[in-house]
Amino acid sequence: MEGRASEIHGRALVVDTHCDTLKCLMPQFTRPRDSMWRDRSGIGMGVSSDLGHVDIPRLFEGGVDCQFFAVSSARERTPPHPLRTALEMIEAFYKECEKNRELIRPATSYREIEGAVGEGKVAAMLSIEGADVIEGRVEMLRVFHRLGVRMVGLVHSLRNLLADGVADRRTGGGLSELGVQAVDELERLGMIVDVSHLSDAGFWDLMDVAKGPVIASHSNAREVCDHPRNLTDEMIRALADNGGVMGMNFAPSFVHPTNATVGGVVDHIDHIIGLVGPDHVGLGSDFDGIPSTPTGLEDVSKMPSITAELVRRGYTEEEVVKVLGGNHLRLIKQVVG
Ligand SMILES: [Zn+2]
Repeated sequence: MEGRASEIHGRALVVDTHCDTLKCLMPQFTRPRDSMWRDRSGIGMGVSSDLGHVDIPRLFEGGVDCQFFAVSSARERTPPHPLRTALEMIEAFYKECEKNRELIRPATSYREIEGAVGEGKVAAMLSIEGADVIEGRVEMLRVFHRLGVRMVGLVHSLRNLLADGVADRRTGGGLSELGVQAVDELERLGMIVDVSHLSDAGFWDLMDVAKGPVIASHSNAREVCDHPRNLTDEMIRALADNGGVMGMNFAPSFVHPTNATVGGVVDHIDHIIGLVGPDHVGLGSDFDGIPSTPTGLEDVSKMPSITAELVRRGYTEEEVVKVLGGNHLRLIKQVVG
């Protein structure tokens, strides 16, 4: 079984739609006394370290072919210049890709992902987590598109000019008019709209106005683990009806209320496949953004343990390949091109 799982993992294109590793490269986001969020700007991504969860050697060890890197300036932990912070993070991303160009290459399309993987490199995609970074100007989305960003979440838990977040528990708010304009512009530009961190009302507003499929880049099933960052069955059905995909988040509190394990993550995958079939679930680890990890998924090098568990539960190779990245790739091909 082990051997078969590792063969399947090796053959599959593995895609992870969310990590916060760029934050670990920005001194203003790091915390000196916390090994998870210690400043790695001096170390970079090319060196294997035991800090946090993601670096390039560990991406290879984990067999990850395409990793999304989130650019974020969450208000709760942010210096007062969201746009400038985002631009600095994008610069850190490209600097790391240049420094390690034999191993990792930025990708802005399905074809560029294939190209990078064909050369034996990790394809690195840029996403935005919380469109606070556009500072209220929808036009800035076009600039971020030019800079290589291909996925955008409207909000990062706390309300901004575009939408209410999941932490705005009392407001009942969804998308603002500016948020609706942003969705139109994102779809026009070929950028994937991300529902993770949106309020429930925001989710339904988005499903109302979105013309194409959307992603939940790092959210699980609320029926399996009752957390507001996870999606209800009704939401999962609506997302799937629209051709969307969910990336499974490894944050222990989103996986299981008391005992998060690899099996717990796969329980969410089981539930979603039972609900809407095998075409709408993938991986969105949230590595380097979560305070601790499930047992058996201590960092990105442990990604193959998901495959082992899927194989153990009797999923076919075709299904496993879809979950590991095939579904995300379909969405990327369809929305981004
Ligand atoms: Zn997040």
